[in-house]
Amino acid sequence: MKAVLFHEFGGLDVLQVEEVDDPEPSAGEVLIDVSASALNHLDVDIREGVSRFDVQPPFILGVEVVGRIAALGQGVQGWKVGDRVMPYLMDTCGECRYCRSGRESLCLTPGFISFTTSGGYAEKLACSARHLVRIPDGLSDEAAAATQIAFGTAWHMLFTRGRLQPGESLLINCVGSGIGSAALQLAKLAGAYVIGTAGTSEKLARAKEFGLDVAVNYKELDVPAEVMRATEGRGVDVVFEHVGGEFFQMGLDSMAKDARLVICGGHSGEVVPFDIIPFFRSQKQVIGSFVYNRNEVEQVLDLAARGVITPLVYKVFPLHEARQAMETMERREHFGKIVLKPGAAT
Ligand SMILES: [Zn+2]
Repeated sequence: MKAVLFHEFGGLDVLQVEEVDDPEPSAGEVLIDVSASALNHLDVDIREGVSRFDVQPPFILGVEVVGRIAALGQGVQGWKVGDRVMPYLMDTCGECRYCRSGRESLCLTPGFISFTTSGGYAEKLACSARHLVRIPDGLSDEAAAATQIAFGTAWHMLFTRGRLQPGESLLINCVGSGIGSAALQLAKLAGAYVIGTAGTSEKLARAKEFGLDVAVNYKELDVPAEVMRATEGRGVDVVFEHVGGEFFQMGLDSMAKDARLVICGGHSGEVVPFDIIPFFRSQKQVIGSFVYNRNEVEQVLDLAARGVITPLVYKVFPLHEARQAMETMERREHFGKIVLKPGAAT
């Protein structure tokens, strides 16, 4: 099969399109013909060797994969060749107390699907049948690939971790990003009042189309001041934070008393100063969030298939243009997900 590999950590030029052996499904595994694979910023961190996960080259990137089952390994039940599926992103044990209670994102021995299998930047992938999620009809392969991580993460952050309630106010940092725009759609669905930030007026105009109540350009305006203005001086009930660095501080400064800041990323600064005194005096909460649970994936796929939420696909690239696809993502000009399509015209 054709696959995109890197043999050493580095920039875009370490990516190589190569012919490699097809993966073989072991007992309990299925072989998937990959039809769409969405890009994520995690891919960039892994390629550059700064992900803080134990990944060694040679490596095939890609954790968000959609395809059809091409073969069943020994002992696989409940699936047949031709079924349209996606692996749940995490490689979980299925046996620890968190997995057994449906909270797979807390698994004691977690990994990502591509760490133990090959990844989605390839024509085929073999993975455990235990990880498969069925894709409902009425959702294209590309749209399905754009759903799992963006909407699954946003759902887990807003509702499971952040406990967002109807009528509450919410600040979304970088509302034009994949998970930012997903959080916007879910929060509006839940009846929240949403303030969003972005660095360009184009992204803010796009977010307005999805119901954003208050748009703030963080390059031009003071975000906490604008949040206070929009909430009559109270601050927001929940902050959706996935950026880190100065955005984390802006989020803290935008919170109402007893508000929750939910965070799942720190690309713009992983270690930040933290003033303890105003934090405890206003009884704020900072809540960590990591990935999402499998039932949350099924939930957002169902919403997408029924047209209640809209997975956003910015651009589709053929597999051999993985380098251009990653470059497009790294320029951060996109609104929505970038998807690789093995089997697209070469
Ligand atoms: Zn587990």
